[in-house]
Amino acid sequence: MNKADPKKFRVKSFGCQMNVYDGERMNEMLVDQGMTRADEGEDADLVVLNTCHIREKAAEKVYSDIGRLRKKDGSTPMIAVAGCVAQAEGKEISRRAPTVDIVVGPQAYHRLPELIARAKTGRKALDTDMPANSKFDVLPVRQKQARPNAFLTVQEGCDKFCTYCVVPYTRGAEISRPWADLIDEAKALVDGGAKEITLLGQNVNAWRGADQSGKDRGLDGLIRALDRISGLERIRYTTSHPNDMTQELIEAHGDVAKLMPYLHLPVQSGSNAILKAMNRSHTTESYLTILERVRHVRPDIAISGDFIVGFPGESDRDFEDTLEVVRQANYSQAYSFKYSPRAGTPAATMEDQIAPEIMNERLQRLQALLNEQQHAFNRQAVGRTTQALLERKGKLDGQLVGKTPWLQSVHIIAPDLAIGDMVDVDIESAGPNSLAGRLNERIAA
Ligand code: SAM
Ligand code: SF4
Repeated sequence: MNKADPKKFRVKSFGCQMNVYDGERMNEMLVDQGMTRADEGEDADLVVLNTCHIREKAAEKVYSDIGRLRKKDGSTPMIAVAGCVAQAEGKEISRRAPTVDIVVGPQAYHRLPELIARAKTGRKALDTDMPANSKFDVLPVRQKQARPNAFLTVQEGCDKFCTYCVVPYTRGAEISRPWADLIDEAKALVDGGAKEITLLGQNVNAWRGADQSGKDRGLDGLIRALDRISGLERIRYTTSHPNDMTQELIEAHGDVAKLMPYLHLPVQSGSNAILKAMNRSHTTESYLTILERVRHVRPDIAISGDFIVGFPGESDRDFEDTLEVVRQANYSQAYSFKYSPRAGTPAATMEDQIAPEIMNERLQRLQALLNEQQHAFNRQAVGRTTQALLERKGKLDGQLVGKTPWLQSVHIIAPDLAIGDMVDVDIESAGPNSLAGRLNERIAA
């Protein structure tokens, strides 16, 4: 069946912040092609599902979403599946979901216009090539930003091959984008209204490149260069791997004022035996030593992490070791997941897969401890005055929601303020997930 010439489109992104970034670049590219974004509730002629393959639940979600895609007149829009499910499942997607017109991997989405042209003629279009770096060379320059907090992918792919993880297969080998491209993109984001930039990468701190004088630099060098961009007020980076946490990067937390006091550093497990089976190549001791060193230069830093419970072979003792690491690390916030076997990864065929009820119980205990730590961290803010970058509207009339330097959400009622304002807030109360306060009139005046 021929699909009409799509005029209105919608890109729906799932999963990590790198997908959010890719989704924004797809949006900008499709607008550059003369198409218009469909408003909320409006029919789209083209729907791009920018998918996540990291856990089974995330990957399966795409199929239920495809089944629900209908226009108001009952017809099906042109459907493109992008992202990591597209990369991992390729042709299988069209077999399971025949209404899908386009399948495009995360390294090939700059070719969407050609794929759309093909789909318009009624042919299926599949592109899961991994042409190194080229998408960044052809994507249009960044447009005006809707939000004051922008994402900037600096590094993609992964060579670490943790035994549970699909990323090295879906995102390909580790690459660092060139220095000059990143400085230019950061400046374009700031010119477009961004006040905060989060540098993104599957292993963002593995970023390396030659600076303008040809000198080899790590992520700390890039951060120091961004620090000099006037108009940029905050810099963040995520996600880091413990093995790439250099002393230079740690020191940047001590002396780069725009680098926010927040570090997302996944440990995954507190048991060295499990870390070895995961091929993480760090130990709990080396992980805790990094936290000590970061806290030495920036005592107030908020530490975040990722955990997997129920990795094959995880004993009660191993899990207790994870709880112990959480107690020692003292997180401001963290993400925890049940292990999800992914086809093609070594862990999926390991013996001693853990029963779901044991995983559930362990996840609940871990999350209870993490929530307790998060709430305690938030409570420390009560009575203090904290800077917040206002990022979005809240649910209440005149309410705005911002982020503190420690990445806590903070709600204020301030009808005279706007998204993008940087304000001082007196924190009055703290919940497990967010803070509430009022504008500090003394400083604002
Ligand atoms: N590169 C980062 C690192 O090494 O910590 C993480 C990137 S990964 C996209 C995000 C998180 O998903 C991981 O830190 C891990 O906790 C989780 N994850 C990855 N594969 C998983 C799996 N098979 N089952 C459950 N959680 C998984
Ligand atoms: Fe996945 Fe490990 Fe690479 Fe992180 S370091 S993306 S968890 S393989």
